[in-house]
Amino acid sequence: SRLRGSQIKKTKTVCTYCGVGCSFEVWTKGRKILKVEPSDGPTNAVSTCVKGKFGWDYINSKERLTTPLIRDGEGFRETSWDEAISYIARRMREIKGEAGADALGFISSSKCTNEESYLMQKLARAVVGTNNIDNCSRYCQSPATMGLWRTVGIGGDSGSVTDIEAAGLVIIIGSNTAESHPVIATRIKRSHKLKGQRLIVADLRRHEMAERADIFLHPKPGTDLVWLSGVTRYIYENNLADQEFLTSKVENLENYIASLEPFDLETTSNITGISKETLIEVANEIVSAKGVVICWAMGVTQHNGGSDTSTAISNLLLITGNYGKPGCGSYPLRGHNNVQGASDFGSMPAMMPGYEKLSDPVVVAKWERQWGVDLPKTAGLDNHEMVDAIHSGSLKALYLIGEDMGLVDANINHVQSAFEKLELFVVQDIFFSKTAQFADVILPASPSLEKEGTFTNTERRIQRLYQALEPLGESRPDWKIITSIGNALGANWSYGSPEEIMDEASRCAEIFVGVTYGALEGFSSLQWPVKPDGSDTPVLFLDGFAFPSGKAQLYPLEFIEPSEVTDDEFDLHVNNGRLLEHFHEGNMTYKSQGISSRTPGTFLEVSPELAKERNLSDGSVVRLTSRRGAVKVSVLISDRVQGREVYLPMNSQSNESAINALTSSHTDRATHTPAYKELAVKMEVLSAK
Ligand code: SF4
Repeated sequence: SRLRGSQIKKTKTVCTYCGVGCSFEVWTKGRKILKVEPSDGPTNAVSTCVKGKFGWDYINSKERLTTPLIRDGEGFRETSWDEAISYIARRMREIKGEAGADALGFISSSKCTNEESYLMQKLARAVVGTNNIDNCSRYCQSPATMGLWRTVGIGGDSGSVTDIEAAGLVIIIGSNTAESHPVIATRIKRSHKLKGQRLIVADLRRHEMAERADIFLHPKPGTDLVWLSGVTRYIYENNLADQEFLTSKVENLENYIASLEPFDLETTSNITGISKETLIEVANEIVSAKGVVICWAMGVTQHNGGSDTSTAISNLLLITGNYGKPGCGSYPLRGHNNVQGASDFGSMPAMMPGYEKLSDPVVVAKWERQWGVDLPKTAGLDNHEMVDAIHSGSLKALYLIGEDMGLVDANINHVQSAFEKLELFVVQDIFFSKTAQFADVILPASPSLEKEGTFTNTERRIQRLYQALEPLGESRPDWKIITSIGNALGANWSYGSPEEIMDEASRCAEIFVGVTYGALEGFSSLQWPVKPDGSDTPVLFLDGFAFPSGKAQLYPLEFIEPSEVTDDEFDLHVNNGRLLEHFHEGNMTYKSQGISSRTPGTFLEVSPELAKERNLSDGSVVRLTSRRGAVKVSVLISDRVQGREVYLPMNSQSNESAINALTSSHTDRATHTPAYKELAVKMEVLSAK
């Protein structure tokens, strides 16, 4: 809307940073952003964090890509959209003709809208003919989704932020919630302070939520599965489980209980370093609470056993009856603003939109009818497998949207050397990222304020964003670019708006069947699954679990050692994560003056003990070397870390200080999510200061 008599325009949008999905109005005058005003967001009400409030001037950054670029020798030259699109289509056709459709790969973006992720997977499957399609949830929360699929059948948060607020006990595992999901953290802090909510935090680092916790657990790195299983075994053995819930709503109890045999209190304590008394205290907190919520994030998932630990969380909630009612359940906190939606709308190698399984012929036949084409039937490659396939020569072309994969994937030397081997590399972004340097064609995209569409937040909540600004220069919304490439490949698509794309997706994908733009008007929202009558699902599993029997499945587990541990040479364990001010590597937040001036660079947190041992002060410069590479960073002494555990935030714009110059290619066994959190290094002091 426009304010009467002025050129000020107010536009409802959804935050483009984290998965909390705060919505608000942005006030603009021309291209100038005057302010962000939260008023009526279904998740955030009147709250935002510093990024949502002040992190928008990247929109007008001089570094925005404003015209398509095409490789010219060692550099790039500006080109027209027509030339860029026809070059891409010609090379895609040639590569498909020579090596088959599976020689091409597609990676959608969690920064894009649902409609754009839907189109990207449709381009891969229905136009090119490959299931090589993925998105960046592969780097973060795929293991959480796997843990939930195994046990309760739906890979989303069990309820809403209001359920987290209402729980009697919140357990936060491997999540720096106050910095990574600030508005959710505020709700927990309020309930904890004012409503008697109990709080248990398990982490390596004593961050803000750990400081506030009633119990802070500091397990040895990579051993969360063990303490979770030990506590679960103690609860079951001592008849503290919810027997009625187990009898009526859960299957596979016997096999599961047998798998808990190794996790007696003594062994659990020895492996995790948590005392037996504390384990019992945690068990008692859980069984005496009125509703238990467990929130978790990358500290759980980015391990070689990330899916298994996520499964152990869900097993514990099942044993104690904490599903299928308000104020309890599982809450994997999604990272990017639309990482949930990118997966929901089918940018995954083995799932069609709505998590419909590619392995089910009925599903594939339905989508073939919908799109009027034959579809490829075998699961495609995920991000991690695509990098290996480029190295082995079987993947020759990659179309990558909005992902600085050359900086954020693990073991970046391995990833960047793969990019150099591609015969066609198309990068679509708003900035000339590290990854774009390796591209053959760079396409300038429009960020969220310059387009329409929907995002889905961590609560499965679909919300609309409206266009506040015209696309800068010749940049275009991603859905228009994907449509152009599809049509240049013969798709004959006639989408006139994101609404038409959503209408198509909701006609076919069962969990979105009642989704319409009308029902999402303004600050209205819908939490999937949405029934044909338009009713949505704020709390899952009220009528049973998503398995044919309607019962949840306990899932037996075993503990596997982390893929990399410290030894005499690589004697420091590195943990990593976000900062409040910067979003991930900082591609957008470093372009926002107010934010980058507060936190200009990255740093290494070291414990006071380690600082004393190595003669370090604040500002000392050290080199960390892993088995893959080295980085140079300055030191910040902090009692948030202990002993030989150090913390390196991921905000870095260069290989020189990027955490992923150090990380390995080890992955979660079930999902190929990189084991970013399993990293041992040695330290050399370059300047003691
Ligand atoms: Fe944006 Fe997340 Fe901050 Fe909300 S909490 S304003 S969604 S970054």
